[in-house]
Amino acid sequence: MKSINKAYINGEFTELNGKEVFELINPSNHQKIGEVVLGDEIDTRKAVEAAKNAFTTFSKTNIEERIVILSNLKKAVAEREEDLIETMILEYGGTRQFCTMGFQNMVSAFDNMIETLNHFEFSRKAGNTLVQMTPVGVVGIITPWNSSNSFICNKFATAVAAGCTVVVKPSEMSALQTQIIIECFHNAGLPKGIFNVVNGLGSVVGNEIVNNPDIAKISFTGSTQTGKMIAKGAVDSMKRVTLELGGKSPNIILDDSDLNEVIPQAVFGAYMNSGQACIAPTRLLVPQSKIEEVNAIAKAVAQQVVVGNPSNEATNVGPMVSEKQYERVQSYIQLGVEEGAELLVGGVGKPEGLENGNFVKATIFTNVRNDMRIAQEEIFGPVLSIIPYNSEEEAVAIANDTSYGLAAYVSSSDEKRALNVASQIEAGRVCVNGFKHDPLAPFGGFKQSGIGREFGAYGLEEYLEPKSILV
Ligand code: NAD
Repeated sequence: MKSINKAYINGEFTELNGKEVFELINPSNHQKIGEVVLGDEIDTRKAVEAAKNAFTTFSKTNIEERIVILSNLKKAVAEREEDLIETMILEYGGTRQFCTMGFQNMVSAFDNMIETLNHFEFSRKAGNTLVQMTPVGVVGIITPWNSSNSFICNKFATAVAAGCTVVVKPSEMSALQTQIIIECFHNAGLPKGIFNVVNGLGSVVGNEIVNNPDIAKISFTGSTQTGKMIAKGAVDSMKRVTLELGGKSPNIILDDSDLNEVIPQAVFGAYMNSGQACIAPTRLLVPQSKIEEVNAIAKAVAQQVVVGNPSNEATNVGPMVSEKQYERVQSYIQLGVEEGAELLVGGVGKPEGLENGNFVKATIFTNVRNDMRIAQEEIFGPVLSIIPYNSEEEAVAIANDTSYGLAAYVSSSDEKRALNVASQIEAGRVCVNGFKHDPLAPFGGFKQSGIGREFGAYGLEEYLEPKSILV
């Protein structure tokens, strides 16, 4: 059993003022695997002070120096592949498939920022004026549990590229994973104080980050509810915010699609990261005329989905991160039944033989109406809603009839037709014919899925303030 009892401040593992202890529980079997001592406001202020002091020199580094740091970070992370993957499986319950991909994302975050820096103009002309893109200041990074280290790597890589220093508050449920990434960054020989971490609760450490006047910007990934609180709190000191929030992404299957190809993709896609993915395509929009065929394929596919031990190579869906999250997903499955959606496969309760962990049955509702709560609210578990539509126009209207706008998916055998539909969808990212990722393209949400963008040049600009110098 591991005990995490230090913060990481000014390049050192530091004693905490906070005393509260949080237990770390393996979601696959409910065994205690460790504990973390939570930091408090005093610890957070120390971390902010270190970041503030470091900013005075780090903000003046040149691009070449930042690239050296980014490549050292990449090397240091790559060296701990096994630890990073195994700890994520143990503490979070992510499947081996997902955690392996998550590790690749961590490593590539540094390469992507190096690539971005190679083409980025920090000094520009606008009219007759010189515009300097200057680092915004100390950035508070607040992350969720569902891909914790990928978010930390991506956000910190962007901060380094911009010349910003950071204070990170990861999810308290990710302390073992965070410890390894801190060790990696420590081994990378960073300038002291540019990277600081305080484990703690959102209401304590998170709240201090939101209110601390020495923090200039917050980069947050998490729920829309928390994002709204952060945005409200940030306005008092006029902090810049990037908010990557929830989603309820539509997946439109146009009537010329090969159902035997796209429906299996759609089902496995909805279950990505055990359904705990903000970009998961959880609303499957299919032509009414094909609903029976779709149901038959989807049901057969869901029955092949392997729910179970996340460590096994073949597992597609692991446990929910916590009992609270398990209960939340159960309550939505129950709600779907009460709302009158047709349960095609799965349902409430744990799959047989998996009673000791937070396992949910791979579940599909069909003939769902888009005004049902299971179609409107983010469930964050392996629950897919199939929604029939009668025309392409209606499909677009249903896709856009949501308060979210993070991602969307369109399939058609006619790419031009799919592109035309994609251009009408209100979402920050629309994938045509399959699940795609471009780490240099802007990522972020329309509507209540967030504010601002991450990745590539668009993401880097969010950590910079344009300064116009008129001579
Ligand atoms: P959450 O909003 O509950 O918590 C996220 C982080 O915010 C945690 O570190 C938490 O401790 C902290 N926090 C909580 N209250 C706070 C407060 N008052 N002030 C400051 N910080 C506070 O989210 P979660 O349950 O950890 O993660 C799941 C959510 O994250 C889902 O809604 C999902 O869609 C979203 N998410 C979004 C993206 C994206 O890129 N858009 C990616 C992954 C997850």
